[in-house]
Amino acid sequence: MEFRDLKTQYRILKSQIDKAIQTVLNEGQFIMGRQVQELEETLAEYVGVKHCITCANGTDALYMVLMAWNIKAGDAVFVPDFTFFATGEVVSLMGAAPVFVDVDPATFNIDPVKLEAALQKVLKEGRYQPKAIIPVDLFGLPANYPEIAKIADKFKLLILEDGAQGFGGQIGNRCACSFGNAAITSFFPAKPLGCYGDGGAVFTDDDELAEKIRSIRIHGKGTSRYDNVRIGVNSRLDTMQAAILQVKFQAFTEYELENVNQAAQLYSERLKAAVKTPVIPEGYYSSWAQYTIRLENKEQRDSLQEKLKVQGIPTMIYYPKPMHRQKAFADGEGLAQDNSETGYLCDRVLSLPVHPYLEKSTIVYICDEILEHLGEE
Ligand SMILES: *Cc1c(COP(=O)(O)O)cnc(C)c1O
Repeated sequence: MEFRDLKTQYRILKSQIDKAIQTVLNEGQFIMGRQVQELEETLAEYVGVKHCITCANGTDALYMVLMAWNIKAGDAVFVPDFTFFATGEVVSLMGAAPVFVDVDPATFNIDPVKLEAALQKVLKEGRYQPKAIIPVDLFGLPANYPEIAKIADKFKLLILEDGAQGFGGQIGNRCACSFGNAAITSFFPAKPLGCYGDGGAVFTDDDELAEKIRSIRIHGKGTSRYDNVRIGVNSRLDTMQAAILQVKFQAFTEYELENVNQAAQLYSERLKAAVKTPVIPEGYYSSWAQYTIRLENKEQRDSLQEKLKVQGIPTMIYYPKPMHRQKAFADGEGLAQDNSETGYLCDRVLSLPVHPYLEKSTIVYICDEILEHLGEE
């Protein structure tokens, strides 16, 4: 059994994907070929923003936005304590201080009440200037942008939506990657919309920011590649990956999103009486990068994981450690609050296999194994 079944997906899309790759080989435009621009137009339209700027990976996408915003030493950027390392890493890379904010244990996303408390604390201490918030759409569920936007307005902060796991999610009829002043996503193979290597994108309605990021991604280019107006990076999406994403995007919107939602729903129906299943607030739609349950304590979680492993069912612990406890941030500028919910989650979460090609019978089997194990305790 696969945790995220990319092989089945390839088997189903093989003829189209092989053809798309062959076309790139025939056309010979491996860097910034026409497929890159076509994909950018398709994704911008789908998300509902003016600009999509693809790049080499999701981490670079985050980094390029912070570069364009001139985030620097002395600035504070607010990041959830429960996320993938990259969300905080890019803040430190800019020399700024990541402030790790506790999350809402029901949605796994940054808690707006605790965000405001963290902001007040940083302002009172006066060492850092609050500049931006990077909410994360963890496991595919958009963060609470209506509340976060109110706080950003009040404190004059920029919002960068980390939609690396969130592409395809929605709040009402607004799509993930359209919230905040800018948003990013990742096309890492296991993300909701993945390519066959690394890839990422920035989304924004801000014309000036888009122009800056288009420049930053190609060595700070001006009117041409050999006219350099700022220090940038080299972070382009390969034409080959863009061509693969064009095929995968069709499948994603036509049936994958719907199928993965049905898989998640079946899990929740079967498991909700025995464990804490993911909470999707009213009006929210998840793209289910992960399906994550919460157990009663660490012993129960670890023993369940072990039992499932023996039965050939792969599971993952996203994430075993709060960001503020990562060694990389220990000597840095990272500022931790009392993040008790995050610590609680790290000991209790377990992510189950979930993807659009997961069979109903497999889900039933996994649920039966879980229920049997919990019943035996
Ligand atoms: C995967 C991920 C990233 C980084 O994306 P890459 O394409 O792997 O660089 C950033 N933030 C979150 C929340 C992620 O899950």
